[in-house]
Amino acid sequence: MNKLKRLEILSRLRDNDPHPTTELVFNSPFELLIAVLLSAQATDVSVNKATIGLFGDAPTPAAMLTLGVEGVKRHIKTIGLFNTKAVNVIKTCQILIDQHQGVVPENREALEALPGVGRKTANVVLNTAFGWPTIAVDTHIFRVANRTNFAPGKNVDLVEQKLLKVVPAEFKVDCHHWLILHGRYTCIARKPRCGSCLIEDLCEYRDKTE
Ligand code: SF4
Repeated sequence: MNKLKRLEILSRLRDNDPHPTTELVFNSPFELLIAVLLSAQATDVSVNKATIGLFGDAPTPAAMLTLGVEGVKRHIKTIGLFNTKAVNVIKTCQILIDQHQGVVPENREALEALPGVGRKTANVVLNTAFGWPTIAVDTHIFRVANRTNFAPGKNVDLVEQKLLKVVPAEFKVDCHHWLILHGRYTCIARKPRCGSCLIEDLCEYRDKTE
């Protein structure tokens, strides 16, 4: 895909949604970190349902430690992999208190050192809590980038590298959310909604639907 097409796609996505953000509900970088950690292989809707009660009881790392693994489990048992996630939440909170004064570090290495936090989660936290121009590539972004030919790549790391290279600075902070929302609601996995897609004339997917 050429540069002009990419620019037009980003401009249209921006015009359509000038201030995109995550659908996860959070009130602090800490709550965002925990919500993203819980969202692996789970929908944002299911995470939000669980975190209303969880964050009500434990809005800080210290309060989360008081709740303990079993207490966290009680709140998140409707979410997939809740046993492992509860353990990771508590370990993460312990590290935040022991090594970061109870604050979520604005630092990639420190974030990725937290249990259950990989590159994607770190990218989301740096982007959404701290405004860094990072682009976390999840399943939606991977699909959209490849289908449209906007930033094709064989794996998520290659797509991330390509996106960081081809997306102009003015669009970088919001690009992550535009592409996720586009993949979640329009360019959906099973049958993309090409007929109602605002970039249909620019997309290079060969099997477009009506
Ligand atoms: S035209 Fe179809 S395949 Fe292309 S981005 Fe839109 S929904 Fe996806």
